[in-house]
Amino acid sequence: MSLVSRQTLSQWLNQSLQVHNFKDYAPNGLQLQGKPTIKKVVMGVTASKAFLEKAAQVKADAVIVHHGWFWKNEDPCITNMKYERIAYAIKQELNVFGYHLPLDAHPEWGNNAQLAKVLDFGVNRVEGQVETCGQGNLVWLGSPPKGKEELGALLQHIETILQRSVLFIGDKTKRVSRIAWCTGGAQGYFDAAIAAGAELFLTGEASEQVFHMAQENGVAFMAAGHHATERYGVQALGEALKAQFPELDVEFIDIPNPV
Ligand SMILES: [Zn+2]
Repeated sequence: MSLVSRQTLSQWLNQSLQVHNFKDYAPNGLQLQGKPTIKKVVMGVTASKAFLEKAAQVKADAVIVHHGWFWKNEDPCITNMKYERIAYAIKQELNVFGYHLPLDAHPEWGNNAQLAKVLDFGVNRVEGQVETCGQGNLVWLGSPPKGKEELGALLQHIETILQRSVLFIGDKTKRVSRIAWCTGGAQGYFDAAIAAGAELFLTGEASEQVFHMAQENGVAFMAAGHHATERYGVQALGEALKAQFPELDVEFIDIPNPV
């Protein structure tokens, strides 16, 4: 049984995801040190207690998540819920890797790229680069799938694929050709999408003001779930990991979250 060292895995992940290019709200990379060698890796969206328990059940040596720990502005003390998660992971000798913005933005494995793939969106490219807008170029621009240009049909298509209801603001009979999306809690980038000429902005979550922005700008808005839109990046990263290190046993575990 061959194993991969923690350091080798860490270096490959940090390099592949270009973590040095990001200023983020949480540390990217190894957040908690566990066993020095790794065979079983579990991919997930969030390093919650329930997720860590599932990972330990399948004998994970490392977990790789999109939502790790140690967010800016949170209480840094290791107490209560935070203590429970960390104490449990230490007891299980789990390596915990978190990749936030680098995993949203990656041109191939990122959440935006993978959501476009899953939903069959066309991705606009300018001189070979993805057309983006918003802070950190986190919002992608493109087009709806062929035959799904009418917002009502597009909404139904998205609900079917993501297997959940989507909050929709707009006119379902309107046809769109230019759309923008950003996975997760990116409702604050709605104005950037409007400024970039998008006729629809799709993200995970909504805030009160998006209703008025959609109404008054005549731009449709969809909130399709923070978790639901961010399930795909870690899975693509898991596939890339398997290809790079065939000796690893890589599995994705989904802990459903309605938000
Ligand atoms: Zn997120």
